[in-house]
Amino acid sequence: MKILVGIKRVIDFSVRVQVKKDGSGVNTDGVKLSINPFDEIALEEALRIREKGMQAEVVAVSIGPAEVQQQLRTALAMGVDRAVLVETGEVLQPLMVARIFHELTKRENADLVILGKQAIDDDCNQTGQMLAALWDRPQATFASKVELKDKTLTVTREVDAGLETISVDLPAVVTTDLRLNTPRFVKMPDIMKARSKPLQTLKLDDLGVAKAPELEITNYAPPPQRVGGKKVADVPALISALKERGVL
Ligand code: AMP
Repeated sequence: MKILVGIKRVIDFSVRVQVKKDGSGVNTDGVKLSINPFDEIALEEALRIREKGMQAEVVAVSIGPAEVQQQLRTALAMGVDRAVLVETGEVLQPLMVARIFHELTKRENADLVILGKQAIDDDCNQTGQMLAALWDRPQATFASKVELKDKTLTVTREVDAGLETISVDLPAVVTTDLRLNTPRFVKMPDIMKARSKPLQTLKLDDLGVAKAPELEITNYAPPPQRVGGKKVADVPALISALKERGVL
């Protein structure tokens, strides 16, 4: 069985993101970049499937500039068998990423693709769903529990009404929610071992994937400054304050 895991490099969740003055993007100079947190969960889940005794090869895949190798080395240190970097300097939109993963599922003969439910930089929450559509295979998104038996996955999903459990046949796409697992820490000896694990680089142009962007980003803007709250003495004062603001 082969499991592909998506690894996107994003601005670390602890960094306060600054929008560039000209509205052309966000500042990444000197900013800490890390594996998207939902992708760490995806990695952990793939490793747990393998550790349960399933004959599985776990392959981490990242699409981005050469520097993304750093995050792929972390994935190798966490325990994936090998890594693939699809190298490009272009800013990619979810449909394009889904097309690239689709191409890789064919090349790798993948049984399962585990992605994060969303990348915390653009919060798109689209890639997994688009990949399932292109691949014409089932999807189990927002997974908070995954059980694999034979060629069937039983997945508990976090939905608006609570929890939903579905069964999907492999090959399939799973996207991870926060409560699925707690990713392991990387240990020093594993970092050393990861140096000798295989990391293959493919050029995006060699994959033969259609590249036209479907979305045009016209401007980035920071959210409006939050104004301080106001304490009121009683209910009538609350009602008149709400009326003042035009809420009532
Ligand atoms: P999105 O639809 O952009 O919110 O991304 C959802 C998931 O798709 C991410 O959590 C990753 O698992 C995967 N993904 C998106 N972009 C990339 C990328 N450039 N390289 C690898 N995986 C990606």
